[in-house]
Amino acid sequence: MRKRTKVGKCKLCLETKELNFEHIPPRSAFNKETKYYILEQTEYYKKAKEYTFENLKPKTRKEQGGIGEYSFCIDCNGYLGSKYVRTYKDFAHIAMNIIQSNDKNIKAFQFDISDINLLKFLKQITAIFIASNNFVFTECYPELLEFVKNEKLMELSEKYRFYMYLNNEGQNRNGTIHYTNLHGAICEFTFSPFGFVLSLDNPNQLMKLTEITSFKDYDKNKEMKNSMIILNKYPTYYPFPMDYRSEKELKGST
Ligand SMILES: [Zn+2]
Repeated sequence: MRKRTKVGKCKLCLETKELNFEHIPPRSAFNKETKYYILEQTEYYKKAKEYTFENLKPKTRKEQGGIGEYSFCIDCNGYLGSKYVRTYKDFAHIAMNIIQSNDKNIKAFQFDISDINLLKFLKQITAIFIASNNFVFTECYPELLEFVKNEKLMELSEKYRFYMYLNNEGQNRNGTIHYTNLHGAICEFTFSPFGFVLSLDNPNQLMKLTEITSFKDYDKNKEMKNSMIILNKYPTYYPFPMDYRSEKELKGST
């Protein structure tokens, strides 16, 4: 495999070093041969309907080989790879299997996650949000860096709340921070089979989604066997955060 590196500032250790091309999500979680376009955000917002349903093709060239960025240095990349990536991959494969082996009209699934190390999973999700945003993000929210860098750390301020859903329909969402009038500051990352929302400084629970903030207590609770999770499955056709309207709903409206 061709090694792709360049020199820059690492988003995790904040040192200037040789950076690896980081697959977001991990390569092993269905992101090996992803083909995609990079679209300028404002353009995509303005023409969401044309791009989604009317076959408007981006002028940018088609990229391939998996979605990602030069976010982390070789050391940090190796650290994430050895600590968290396998857990994410395993969970992604379970979820994908459940979605694909059931009727596509089913809107929610309950399944067993006893074998998943949920603390590691949450740290991998946090790493995804760090990789997806620019440096101002972790200047504002530095606890997220500590949470990822220290694999044992279970403490994370209450102001960070994580949510999750299943997805296999629509477009990816890239995890960058949005300031919304309904939910305050949120980051949303969607790449089938998962969608994740990180809610910042919002004391209210986001009702449509399954909250997974308590995954950080996994090490305290892991004796509890047979942990089950219920996740809704949502389509993500438009690039707007927490817009889960179906194709039918969107095509019906103008
Ligand atoms: Zn680094």
